Amino acid sequence: MEEKVKSLILGSGPAGYTAAIYLSRAGLSPVLYEGILPGGQLTTTTIIENFPGFPDGIGGVELMERMKQQAIRFGTDVRYGVATKVDFITGPLHKVWIDNEKIIYANVVIIATGASAKYLGLPSEEKYKGKGVSVCATCDGFFYKNQNVAVVGGGDTACEEALYLSTICNKVYMIVRKNYLRASKIMQQKVFNNPKIEILFGYQTKEIVGNSEGVTGAILINETGKERKIEVSGFFVAIGHTPNTEIFKGQLDLDESGYIITKPGSTQTNIAGVFACGDVQDKVYRQAITAAASGCMAAIEAEKYLNLIN
Ligand code: NDP
Repeated sequence: MEEKVKSLILGSGPAGYTAAIYLSRAGLSPVLYEGILPGGQLTTTTIIENFPGFPDGIGGVELMERMKQQAIRFGTDVRYGVATKVDFITGPLHKVWIDNEKIIYANVVIIATGASAKYLGLPSEEKYKGKGVSVCATCDGFFYKNQNVAVVGGGDTACEEALYLSTICNKVYMIVRKNYLRASKIMQQKVFNNPKIEILFGYQTKEIVGNSEGVTGAILINETGKERKIEVSGFFVAIGHTPNTEIFKGQLDLDESGYIITKPGSTQTNIAGVFACGDVQDKVYRQAITAAASGCMAAIEAEKYLNLIN
């Protein structure tokens, strides 16, 4: 099955839906494929209190549903399906395979496939996701005001999360599997100098423990098999993210971590007519509001591109 569309959006997080709202309001009737996780990463969090316009907070699922309805209202064709292969090189139209069967030919493609936070892979971590286990301190830290929390990881993200949490929480444990931090020197110094942060070097997490209310602690284990229990109500996993760019390898310029490279101050990729927005091209901010903003940029740039080629 084949279909020709003017504009195609891949991904249904804040970046994808914002691009869809702008493109559809411009009369460009975009087709949007939701991808593997409809609504994106926000659907895995509980309440969102830092998205402007919602003074009492809003649930992640509800926020994404509202964005979807807003995009549909202006004419976006939202479809369930996953992009499984692309050809941006042969041209003149960009070619995208959906679910390995349907082929879409598009004048412009906006990639908003996001990134996935890495998890430890423990069954107890799965059990307490959204009930104390989080991958975003900026999103969820506030819920642990004056409480004890843990951050897993020794990179820049883990240090940033620990520093941020130290401004809200009573105590922050950093669980670092090696005997050193991988983070940049400046971040290391900030963490070492912070009296609220205690770094537990050489420890891995064996299990996260809790009750019906949520997380109450974690059992850690070191290289010699010695166990240690910490009491925490928040458990933040900060061991990195993986951008969802597998299908773009060899087609688009990616950085060493696999993020799509866009021209500075723009969402333009190395291929004309292909734009990237949101977490798939942003490893620094990773916020719903910054993703939405870059989705807006992508739509405006895509519209300009369509005007040029028509
Ligand atoms: P990194 O890959 O740099 O660090 C991941 C950390 O998690 C490492 O300490 C790693 O340990 C640990 N880890 C990985 N898997 C596990 C596991 N299964 N169990 C326990 N620990 C684990 O990821 P970041 O997200 O921190 O950073 C990604 C990139 O983004 C980096 O280039 C970073 O510099 C950059 N960045 C920059 C920022 C800034 O400039 N402000 C802010 C945030 C990120 P180990 O060392 O043992 O492998």
